[in-house]
Amino acid sequence: MDYQKILEEIADEIKPLFSQGKVADYIPALRDVEPSDFAMSVEFIDGSVYNVGCSKKKFSIQSISKVFTYSMSLCIYEKSLYKRVWHEPSGDPFNSLVQLEYENGIPRNPFINAGAIVTADTLVSKYKNSKKAFQEIKRFIDEISSADITINEEVYHSELKYGFRNMALVNLMKSFKNIENDIDEVMKTYFKQCSFEMSTNELAKAMLYLANHGTHPLTNKKYLNQSQAKRVNSLLLTCGHYDASGDFAFRVGLPGKSGVGGGIVAIVPKMMALCVYSPKLNKQGNSLIGTKALELFTTKTGLSIF
Ligand code: GLN
Repeated sequence: MDYQKILEEIADEIKPLFSQGKVADYIPALRDVEPSDFAMSVEFIDGSVYNVGCSKKKFSIQSISKVFTYSMSLCIYEKSLYKRVWHEPSGDPFNSLVQLEYENGIPRNPFINAGAIVTADTLVSKYKNSKKAFQEIKRFIDEISSADITINEEVYHSELKYGFRNMALVNLMKSFKNIENDIDEVMKTYFKQCSFEMSTNELAKAMLYLANHGTHPLTNKKYLNQSQAKRVNSLLLTCGHYDASGDFAFRVGLPGKSGVGGGIVAIVPKMMALCVYSPKLNKQGNSLIGTKALELFTTKTGLSIF
């Protein structure tokens, strides 16, 4: 199959959609992006790579970071992590508070904000403080992406200042004793992980361990065992796009994770990882063109998991 040609066709076919969608603005610093940017990268487990568009341009990875922190925490805490973060889709927006109260402060899954905040708390507990936890998260992502990634300080401070719902979530969970550490330490860790900037090229490479049973195919380093990698992929399929997870599975048919920065990663098990970037979002906060580009990819190649 001519993957380069397929990516170029996709880049052409999504052009009419650029008038649709809206860049995230509830975090003011996220507004400063070029709305018509588009990039897509495909990396195979044998290391071959195909790119189209601005695939070297760094963007805010936002909730895509939840995949890395959940993998780290699952590796450390194994099954005991499930008591603090469940594995059911929420059917609610990513920053919703409603379920948390009647479910006693236990988030439905690690990919909604509440679940990722608990996950950040588990890493602060393991590494004793936010600074060390953050260093370990950076070390993990640097290693799996073979990059030296940095955070966007402006986005980080903007989230600290305007992350009202996230502060409400962490306080509510603390009241239910599902947050062990000082909430400021936890939120610094969470907001910093969301502020990392990476390109589609780096993110596609970083996700390869999930396409290869938890072992990075290019370095042979094991990050998760086979069963854990299955669980992360299952959660990506059922919960990776919040209240649009069903729609994403219906259209794309791959495990995937979005971020409000406009990135989406997806996995073709035993074969490849993909990343697409386009910052204008649909109503559920997922890249509108990114979703369409992935739908076109699986339609053109027949490479869905179904
Ligand atoms: N940092 C963002 C937030 O906490 C992440 C949300 C997202 O990417 N969906 O609101």
